Amino acid sequence: MKVSGLGEFGLIDLLAKMIADSGVDKLGPGRPLIGIGDDAAAWRCASSIQLATVDTMVQGVHFSTDTASCREIGWKSLAINLSDIAAMGGKPEYTLVALALPGDTDTADITALYEGMIEIAREYGVAIVGGNISAAREVSVTITVIGGNVNGEVLRRSTARPGDVIAVTGYLGSAGAGLEMLLKKLEFKPEIAGYLRNAFLHPVPRIAEGQFLVKKGVTTAIDVSDGLLSDLRHICEASRVSARVDADKLPMHEAVREAFPERAVELALSGGEDYELLFTGKRNIVQEVQKGLACPVTIIGEITGRIAGDIEVVDAAGKPVKTGRAGWAHF
Ligand SMILES: [Mg+2]
Repeated sequence: MKVSGLGEFGLIDLLAKMIADSGVDKLGPGRPLIGIGDDAAAWRCASSIQLATVDTMVQGVHFSTDTASCREIGWKSLAINLSDIAAMGGKPEYTLVALALPGDTDTADITALYEGMIEIAREYGVAIVGGNISAAREVSVTITVIGGNVNGEVLRRSTARPGDVIAVTGYLGSAGAGLEMLLKKLEFKPEIAGYLRNAFLHPVPRIAEGQFLVKKGVTTAIDVSDGLLSDLRHICEASRVSARVDADKLPMHEAVREAFPERAVELALSGGEDYELLFTGKRNIVQEVQKGLACPVTIIGEITGRIAGDIEVVDAAGKPVKTGRAGWAHF
């Protein structure tokens, strides 16, 4: 059935019932006082610092149903917002979902989208407490996530200091490689293709890891959404520092090296959408983080001085590496 046949309120009722049946309306630190169905949602705050973030995914700009299932789009659209809370060292608690869509959209596509969102909301204990639906020429999903802090602090972009080492969780370039595979319809062995697809369409927000960073005394972090160079530049500009990245240290998954042997470093530097945590800190603190986390944590360079936003990438011999495209920019 088309959503125009169901109507705005019919669609809201259907999605509200899906959410209620899944139980994700009752997650969060305390059962919300008022969830879906009133003018606004309401809850009591569990922590004194509140975090909020919002992000929009637009069909044809951020996702395409040629390369992703609706369920995958649902997962990812919430995952990228949870990742922003993770990059603050916080705990995501509540979410509101605003959908814009044409009337001839299949209702089954929208329920599949919500299945993906419900899946990740349940996995991370986040309550879906409200939203909005509007008619539009193309599909877009705007998600707001509210969270709390843990351990009394938050991670920022503005606290990197010369002498800090730069580190990153997980692998870089995997999502970029996945996007390239999907766009160009490249064929690889099933295990490589599966890894790359998952890296791009099923990102895992580093929530526990972000909280662990706070606990260990790290103060500076960002999630890798636009690409390593671009996101590191955000830290360097906010902190008014310069940085050196050691290209030979970049953590790249075997599948990326095998699928794109010539382009793995470029993908790791500029690929984007890995949603790993990029952070800086004193070497001994970062080494503690490496010991305490189950995921790989790799030191990839150093904060070098006080020239705001200046980043050099060097090879194993210390020679500058040409970097080309510097990451995703919207316009
Ligand atoms: Mg971010």
